[in-house]
Amino acid sequence: MKKITLLFAFLTLFIGCNTTTENTTNVLANQQEKINDFAIIIHGGAGTILKKNMSDEKEAEYKAKLEEAIKVGHSILKNGGTSQEAVMKTIQIMEESPLFNAGKGAVFTNAGTNELDASFMDGKTLNAGAVAGVTDVKSPIELAIKVMTDSEHVMLSGKGASTFAKENGLEIVDPSYFYTERRFKSLERIKEREKTELDHDDKTAAFYDADIKNAKFGTVGCVALDKDGNIAAGTSTGGMTNKRWGRIGDAPIIGSGTYANNLTCGVSSTGWGEYFIRSQVAYDISAQMEYQQKTLKEATQNVIQNKLTKLGGTGGVIALDNNGNMAFEFNTAGMYRASMDDQGELIIKIYKE
Ligand code: ASP
Repeated sequence: MKKITLLFAFLTLFIGCNTTTENTTNVLANQQEKINDFAIIIHGGAGTILKKNMSDEKEAEYKAKLEEAIKVGHSILKNGGTSQEAVMKTIQIMEESPLFNAGKGAVFTNAGTNELDASFMDGKTLNAGAVAGVTDVKSPIELAIKVMTDSEHVMLSGKGASTFAKENGLEIVDPSYFYTERRFKSLERIKEREKTELDHDDKTAAFYDADIKNAKFGTVGCVALDKDGNIAAGTSTGGMTNKRWGRIGDAPIIGSGTYANNLTCGVSSTGWGEYFIRSQVAYDISAQMEYQQKTLKEATQNVIQNKLTKLGGTGGVIALDNNGNMAFEFNTAGMYRASMDDQGELIIKIYKE
């Protein structure tokens, strides 16, 4: 009897080990052909971005910044650098630009402050780092990566995250660094509207409703595949204008705003964060590829156009799979976006088509 039990235990162990091996071989039933040895894709937010409301100069400014950012990441990948470095450096260019709602240019909270969120995930190890409600760290994406590499945690918030940043030598700035007149005026406009138009208890919900019609989600994100086949994804944001009570959106939440898995794909989201959290958008795309053998295109379309839309959520994603296929998917009027393949072919777009 003892022998039979032992044999059974051995067999279970053997089958278990085999399954583990299978999961790490980077082969799925839906595996297609590799089309890019390396590739990079970025977004600068989705929303009601309409040609009729955009001046030619503004449009050119956005496109130039997207091009500058993606080319930094692309050249890192081309020279054999890691997807982690490519994602960080690319996002930092956008964090430093006042055009996007991330780093400098972040939107304001109800209290007139800037509270920044960011996250990063490494598709090889499935390790991740995230920060929320940070007020004085110049590069939230760098801090998120530091949390992943130099702490035993995945997510830090507020003052603690700032202390960790200081202890690890990251650049600290005065909170006024994040101030931009344009974003401050948006806060004032929304507060004005709140006073006059909204006269009931649930002001926040009503604000979101009122604002969402014209919302422009300016979060930034990047997904990269390097020559070693490793996928990395990162997202950085100021959140949503007029947020209060320490509200945290999807951007720092692994599985919602960011996800990466070498077996499937990497994803970065932008949109109405509450819906992206409830839908687990980024992980759902990866899961549909893993468990339903969907292609990247099918999975992103299903999650954004079908599931998220039915729930009432608005926004979009960028995604990149382990064969170098890339997808932009959004249900808003536009999304600032760009991609570059291993041949250096650059695509930059803002509106639907
Ligand atoms: N998703 C972000 C949030 O809800 C907003 C954005 O994408 O701009 O905080």
